[in-house]
Amino acid sequence: MIFRQLFEQESSTYTYLIACGDTKRAVLIDPVLETVGRDLAVLAELGLELEYSLETHIHADHITAACRLRSLTGCKVAYPETDGLACADVLVNEVNPLQVGALTLQPLFTPGHTDAHHSYLLERPGALRIFTGDALLIDGCGRTDFQNGDAPALYGSVHEKLFSLPGDALVYPAHDYEHRHVSTVAQERERNPRLGRGRTLDEFVEIMAKLNLPYPKRIDAAVPANLLCGACPGEEQAIASEPPGPSRQG
Ligand code: FE
Repeated sequence: MIFRQLFEQESSTYTYLIACGDTKRAVLIDPVLETVGRDLAVLAELGLELEYSLETHIHADHITAACRLRSLTGCKVAYPETDGLACADVLVNEVNPLQVGALTLQPLFTPGHTDAHHSYLLERPGALRIFTGDALLIDGCGRTDFQNGDAPALYGSVHEKLFSLPGDALVYPAHDYEHRHVSTVAQERERNPRLGRGRTLDEFVEIMAKLNLPYPKRIDAAVPANLLCGACPGEEQAIASEPPGPSRQG
């Protein structure tokens, strides 16, 4: 297996490149429009063929590179079926995993940050990886006050679907704002100040209600574009109208 964790600094987004070492087929999880050139260079350098772009959810803080990658490489655009996007080529859900060569990405329905959010489990000999999107961040989680977010739903997703995984499962989030790269399920269960440490549902709901976060800077451009898989027609206009800036909490 080939694995790369790639970072986009304006939105502090991690894009994950995962490829089958035998077939050289690859998937990019949560690719960002601004870093499509870098991603293509990494694919070329490693001799990989991009088979899919795959999203954890409809992002509010950046525009996906999905349809740009499709037009440049011929890859298929994969989304959670629950997002209901007509622009997607492949719809995944818990009973329809994504196969990339010999690798299987198992979707886990983890709503709460958005109502259609999915995480992806990748099991390989010696390592279980979970790509948690914005459901579970290192020492944090995505916000729950937009996109049909729901704090009790997120609490349930994390506790039932993610914290129930083996403690040594590696947690790869969609964002980190403090240059951390990876965590484990055990570490988040024990240390996550919002969801771990034995926090109750009521405590979590109160924490999320009191976050007092600013309005997401790019949401008004990013969400409409992402509902079109990155809005390939006219995407330059969408990008030009939104100055980049740091956006926290996914
Ligand atoms: Fe998000």
